[in-house]
Amino acid sequence: MNEKPKILIVDDDRLNLNVLADLLRMDYKVILAKNANQALDRINAEFPPDLVLLDVVMPEMDGYTLLHKIKEQESSRNIPVIFITALDSKQNEARGLEMGAVDYIRKPFHPSIVKARVKNHLTIVRQRKLLEGLANLDGLTEMPNRRSFEIAVEKEWRRCLRSGGIISLAILDVDCFKQFNDNYGHTAGDDALKKVASVLDREILRPADLAARFGGEEFVILLPETDAEGAKFKVEMVRSKVEALQVVHGFSSAGQFLTVSIGGVTVFPSMSSKPLDMTVGADSMLYEAKRRGRNMILWTDLT
Ligand code: GH3
Ligand code: MG
Ligand code: MG
Repeated sequence: MNEKPKILIVDDDRLNLNVLADLLRMDYKVILAKNANQALDRINAEFPPDLVLLDVVMPEMDGYTLLHKIKEQESSRNIPVIFITALDSKQNEARGLEMGAVDYIRKPFHPSIVKARVKNHLTIVRQRKLLEGLANLDGLTEMPNRRSFEIAVEKEWRRCLRSGGIISLAILDVDCFKQFNDNYGHTAGDDALKKVASVLDREILRPADLAARFGGEEFVILLPETDAEGAKFKVEMVRSKVEALQVVHGFSSAGQFLTVSIGGVTVFPSMSSKPLDMTVGADSMLYEAKRRGRNMILWTDLT
C-alpha cells in the first residue's frame, strides 16, 4: 500500500457517516455509501476498499446480509469488515463475528478506539498482502498459493519434457462448502479449510510434490514422476483422511462429514501440449466426480 489505505464507511444515517468520515479522513482515503447496494458497487469497483466499516441496521439490505455477500465473492472475501452498531447484545456481536466480521464496535463509539482498531486491522491487511505476495504463501492456510503452483508446474513440466517423465495432477474441491459456510459461519468455514490444508501438508511429502491452495475451497496436488496408479493411491489417502477428520457437515449431499471430490490426470508432457491442459483435464474429472455424487476420485490416464 503505497497510497493511503482506502476505507469504505456504510451507514444509512448521514450524521454517522460524516462523523466517522471526519474522524478518519486525516489518515485514510475515505469513501462513503448510504446503503448496502451502493456499498457493493464500491466494493466491486476497480479499486476496492482495504477495509469496510459497516452499520448493522439499515433499511432494505442490513449489514449481516451485506457481509454475507462480501464473503461470498472471491474478489472481496479478504476485505476486513468492522461492524459499527447501536445494537447492544452479545448475540448480535457473536453473530457478526461468526459471519466473518473482524471486529465489532458499539455506538456511541470513542473516536480513539475506532481509530486504533482501524489501524490494527489495516496492519494485518498489509502483512497478509506481504506474506501472500512475497512468500508465495496463501494467507489463510499458509500453504503455497496459486502463483507458487503455477511456477512449480511450469518448471516440472519442462523438466519432465526433457527427461521423458510423466506428471500427475489432481484438483481437490470441498463438497457442498457453500452450505457449510451458510450454516456454520464463515469463520468455521475458514477453520475447515485449514484442516483440509493440514491433511495435505501431512500426506504430500516428497520434495518434488506440491500441494497448493488453488483458490477458494479448491486445492491442487502436483505429483511429478508419478504414474496414475501411484497418484490415485496418494490422493485416496488425502480423500479418506479428510473424511476421517469427521468435521460435521449436516448439510452435505455427500455424507454427514466434510468431504472432498478429486479429479486428476496423468500425462507425458509433450511439445504440442501445455501445463494448462492438465489443469483443464483434472477439472473436467472433478466436475464429473461432483456430478456422480461427490466424495470420490475420478482420473484420466493419458499415458
Ligand atoms: P460443490 O460440492 O459442487 O463444490 O459445491 P460448493 O458449495 O462447495 O461449491 P460453490 O462453488 O457453490 O461454493 C463454494 C463456497 O466456498 C462459496 C464460498 O463462500 C466458499 N469459500 C470459498 N473460499 C472460502 C474461504 O476462503 N473461506 C470460507 N469460509 N469460505 C470460502
Ligand atoms: Mg469450487
Ligand atoms: Mg466445492
